[in-house]
Amino acid sequence: MVKHLYLWTVAVAAAAMLLICGCGREQSKKLIMATNAAFPPYEYVEGKEIDGIDPAIIRAIGGKLGYTVEIHDMSFESVIAAVQTGKADIAAAGITITPERKKQVAFTLPYMIAEQVIIVMGKSPIKRSQDLKGKRIGVQHGTTGDTFVTANIQEPERFTNAPLAVQALLAGKLDAVVIDSEPASVFIAQRHDLVRLKEALTYEEYAFAINRENSALLKDFNAELQKMIDSGELKRIIDHYKESHASEQSSGSVNQSFAGRLKESFYLNFVKEQRWMYLVRGFAVTLEITFFAVLLGIGIGFPVAVIRSAADQTGRFKLPDLCCRCYLTVIRGTPVVVQLLIIYFVIFGAVNIDKTLVAVIAFGINSGAYVAEIIRSGIMSIDRGQMEAGRSLGLSYTQTMSLVILPQALKNVLPALGNEFIVLLKETSVAGYIALQDLTKAGDIIRSQTYDAFMPLVAVALIYLTVVLILTGLLGRLEKRLKKNE
Ligand code: GLN
Repeated sequence: MVKHLYLWTVAVAAAAMLLICGCGREQSKKLIMATNAAFPPYEYVEGKEIDGIDPAIIRAIGGKLGYTVEIHDMSFESVIAAVQTGKADIAAAGITITPERKKQVAFTLPYMIAEQVIIVMGKSPIKRSQDLKGKRIGVQHGTTGDTFVTANIQEPERFTNAPLAVQALLAGKLDAVVIDSEPASVFIAQRHDLVRLKEALTYEEYAFAINRENSALLKDFNAELQKMIDSGELKRIIDHYKESHASEQSSGSVNQSFAGRLKESFYLNFVKEQRWMYLVRGFAVTLEITFFAVLLGIGIGFPVAVIRSAADQTGRFKLPDLCCRCYLTVIRGTPVVVQLLIIYFVIFGAVNIDKTLVAVIAFGINSGAYVAEIIRSGIMSIDRGQMEAGRSLGLSYTQTMSLVILPQALKNVLPALGNEFIVLLKETSVAGYIALQDLTKAGDIIRSQTYDAFMPLVAVALIYLTVVLILTGLLGRLEKRLKKNE
C-alpha cells in the first residue's frame, strides 16, 4: 500500500500540473496589465474592480487592439519586473520614465507630466524642502520619490504603498511624505488636515512600460495612444478621474467627542461606499484558501507520514523516505511567505495561473509537512506490539497499517491536527503578498481608502478571533467525544 500511496501522490501531482498548464494555455487574446492599485487617481480598488486613469487608458487601447485586459495588482517595485520577466504585457502604474528603468523595459509615449511634492500636516513647521533635513520623511518604496529623498536629503522611511505613508503622517509617525503630485491632491481632497507645499522637487513624465522584446505591441500601442492624444480622448479620461477625486469630501474629524469620532470612524470604514463588503469578500477568500489547503495538506501529509513510518519500521523505501525528508526539511525550514512567493514568482513565473490556486498549492504544501509529522507522531505512539500482533494474525503490513494502526493513530492526533488547521487559517493572512484579496488584505484596502488604522485592523482581528474560537470550541467537543468512546 505504501508503494501505491507513493504512486498515487505522483499521479495527483501530475494531474495538478496538467490542470495548471491547462489554465495557463487558455488562449484568448489577453493583455495583462501590472499595476499597484493604491495610487489614486491613477489606479485604485473600487469594489471588485481596479479603476483609475491607467486602467481606463489601457482598457481603451486594449479594446481597440482586440485584447481583453486583465489587471494584476502587485507591489510597485514588482511592476517593471513583471513586464521584464513576461508575467505581464504592460505595466501601468503612474510610472516615471527614468534612465535606469529604460535599461530594463521599453517605454511608450509619455501620457502625463508630474512632480514629486511634499505633503505635511496643516500645522507643520516644515515650509520648504530645506526644512526636511533630520525630519521623519515617508515615501513609497522603489519610487522616484524614494530615489530623490535618498539621494538628496536622507534615508527615508519606506512604505509599500502611498496611502500607508499618508496614514503614518496622519497618525503622527512621520513629519512629511514625498509623493507624486496627483495622488497628493487626492489625499488632500480627502483629508483637509493635510497640506501640500508649493515647491516641486522633480519634473517627471509618465509612460507605460512594455517588454523590450515586444516591439510589435509597443508600435501598435503607441499608434493608438497618439490617436487618443490627438483626438482629446486621453485628456477627457484624465480630467474625468481628476475631477471625480477632487470632489471627494474630507473625513478629517475635528472637535468631536470620543463617541462621535468612533461613530464617524465606524461609518467611514464600514458603511460608507459599502466598505464592509471588502471584509465579506476577503473572508470568503480566506475560508476558500484555508479549506482547500487543508484538503491538500491532508492529501500530502498522509502518504508522507506513512512512507516515513514504514521506512523507520521496516528499513525499506529508502528513496521515497529520502524525498519525504527533504520535503519536510525544506518546508519546515523556510517561512511560508517565502514559499508562497517562490511558488508564485519562480515556479509559476511564466504561467498565467489563478492566484487562489497558487495560494492553495503553497499553503497546502506547507501544511502537508506539519500534517505529516503530526500523523507520524500518531503512528509512533501506537505500541509496536500491535503491528506484530496484526502480522501474526495473518494480516499483511498494509492491512495492519490501515485497519489497526492508522485509525488509532488518527484518533490520538486529532486535536493536534485541528490545531494545525487553526494555525493555517491565520497563516493565510500573507496571501496579500501575491495580491490576493483575503481578509487581511481587505483590511489593508479599507485602510488605504480611509487612512484609519484602528477600525479596519480591529475588525479583521475580531473576525479571525471569532473563527478560531468557533473552531477551538468544535475541537474541544470532538476531543470529549473521543474520550467518551475510549
Ligand atoms: N511616479 C513614481 C515612480 O514612477 C511613483 C509611481 C507609483 O507610486 N505608482 O516611481
